Amino acid sequence: MGDIAEANGAARTRLREVSVCRTPRRPYKRCVQKSIPRHDEAPAAAPARLLARPAGLLLRRALHLAGRAATSLPGRVSLRLDPGFLARARSHQRRIVVTGTNGKTSTVALIGYLLGQAGLRTVGNLGGANLPQGIATALLDKPADALVLEVDELTLARVIDAIAPDLVLVTGLFRDQMDRHGEVRSVRDRIADALDRAPDALRLLNGDDPLTASLAGGRTRFFRLEQPPLDVPADGTDCPVCGAALDYTSRIYAQLGEYHCAACGFAAPAADFAATATPEGFAFEGETLPPLPRALHPYSALGALAAMRALDLPVRVPEWPRPVPGRGDEVRVDGRDVVVVLGKNPASTSWNLARHAASTHLFLAADEIADGRDVSWFFDVTMTPVRHAFTAGPRARDMLVRLRYERHVESGAAYADAEDAFRAALAATPEGGRLALVATYTQLPAALALMRQPPRGKPGPAIAGFGPRVHPPRVDAPVRIALCLPDQLGTYGDSGNGRVLVERLAWRGIPAELHRILPGDPAPRDADILLLGGGEDRGQRRAMEALGGWRPDLAAMQEDGVPALLVCGGLQLYGESLTLEGQEVAGLGLLPLVTAPGDRRLVGHIRIACALTGTTLRGFENHGGHSRRLGGVAFGTVLSGNGNAADGREGEGIVVSRTIGTYLHGPVLARNPELADLMLGWVAERRGWSKLAPLDDSTEAAMRAR
Ligand code: GLN
Repeated sequence: MGDIAEANGAARTRLREVSVCRTPRRPYKRCVQKSIPRHDEAPAAAPARLLARPAGLLLRRALHLAGRAATSLPGRVSLRLDPGFLARARSHQRRIVVTGTNGKTSTVALIGYLLGQAGLRTVGNLGGANLPQGIATALLDKPADALVLEVDELTLARVIDAIAPDLVLVTGLFRDQMDRHGEVRSVRDRIADALDRAPDALRLLNGDDPLTASLAGGRTRFFRLEQPPLDVPADGTDCPVCGAALDYTSRIYAQLGEYHCAACGFAAPAADFAATATPEGFAFEGETLPPLPRALHPYSALGALAAMRALDLPVRVPEWPRPVPGRGDEVRVDGRDVVVVLGKNPASTSWNLARHAASTHLFLAADEIADGRDVSWFFDVTMTPVRHAFTAGPRARDMLVRLRYERHVESGAAYADAEDAFRAALAATPEGGRLALVATYTQLPAALALMRQPPRGKPGPAIAGFGPRVHPPRVDAPVRIALCLPDQLGTYGDSGNGRVLVERLAWRGIPAELHRILPGDPAPRDADILLLGGGEDRGQRRAMEALGGWRPDLAAMQEDGVPALLVCGGLQLYGESLTLEGQEVAGLGLLPLVTAPGDRRLVGHIRIACALTGTTLRGFENHGGHSRRLGGVAFGTVLSGNGNAADGREGEGIVVSRTIGTYLHGPVLARNPELADLMLGWVAERRGWSKLAPLDDSTEAAMRAR
């Protein structure tokens, strides 16, 4: 993998290599599942072991000569020959591991840079190949003064066992690829288990993130940041220790900030290493450093600096290195700036949108394993800065639909071809303006290719699009849509259902208000529609406390025929009983249904024949709880996927009066607008309006055809 000195220059070429396991042609799943044997498996016979390094080196050289990616395959071969190959790491003098859902690659690249500045010879998987085969490839190099590795959250325990790190840095924890990783809380628990296996390692934790700070134990030090706040959705503001709501005196973004739990005393720790990032400059431990380029995430800089200090190494920053490819690098094309950023989950996408102001946005959207197969998360991105949007990639239409439901987005167009989308987006960007390319993980190489060789000429036609939506005036009391407990039940993109209802009313000239009903608020008794979304077990527990107090009102609303849509976690809570974090608890008892942990988590695309709409509905399910209906009627029969329980045996969802419970994320109303209109029709009926005018849903129709 080479010395750190070459790291920054070579980083650009490496990104192509990184994608070796993540492109559609070579699915990530295969790389993960057909992974190499564990390091602690029976040691290989001596001759094979002796061949492990030379064979890996030879292959790496051959691949380099052929101009091919060489970040994973050589390590895979070495691990085949010697399953204990990762233990080679122990011959490096210092061993640093970086994990967390966001920011690993940039943090590792910066640590590499700082180690180089300190005069240390360093090796590592600086291009981001963070599974064992990528790590093994880095270990082909001669032992160095320092080894710095980014490690995938799910393989952390295995890598820690093998390499016995001196320091483990956790950048922060956000929801990410939930279909592969599970809920954020379970990722946190896996990391906690892994850390416990390395009692001698120093834990260096992001103290601003409650989930990460809760990983403290043994020798721990915290880094903390001060910077102006940014609008990024939180991934859990409940106390990771006792589950009560955290109080915040200030927020940086998402769940990061100055927090305190009144119930158990868990609180943001004192900083061992602190930095301040303002537009004017960047200071670390009181020392002024060069101002951070926009492309550098302050937490990556801070984490890397803190790692140096924690290891008692000198910090020298004559200037900041170039960003890792695809993390904010810019080029100028025809008098316009083009910036490429990664948008891999709600936190990173919202952050990058806020950080890189642009007049035009091109979203390259996909749903490969490494992106996450469920694209519901598009709806949880804070899209505030977007005005003119272009989309391409396999999920171009889904992104277009998501943007259509954002009132301030003035125009949107989806293209079959990324080059056409780029041409159109560039043409729509005023001279002197900026075009931001926002790519999901597997689309990053395509985005970088566009940046390196910007296609010229006239764009081909768009496959779908929208312009200004008309909002004809109509006088009436606004329709009140109650989005209940979005902080506790908002992890799976279902808050988008509220957005869809509001906009579909507005396009028909009907005023509508979306009310976020929070714990401690009175029950939304005067709502016209009630919405509850999916959430983590921990969030559901907190939601149950609030819902318990509202039960009489919720029961009365059900009795009155107020339409309600309860998705997944929300559906489970409305039932008779459910199991949360291993404990059986009583539900609200407003739906005749019981939920218990099943033998496996039910994750994937689902299609149902819906009894209410008479159509096929599509969505994505992701739940550990399996439900059994004791009464009512099923919402649909399962055509593919699972539904209430494994293999569609129990049907999908439940309907009692106008209360609909379903396991479909998507969000379900965005993917299936006829269901949204069915519910709005119920509102119209209650209000005594005539039938609702139909809308043009051709984009949704095309999206659903996939
Ligand atoms: N936490 C619940 C489960 O795993 C609900 C998940 C969800 O809402 N998607 O079953």
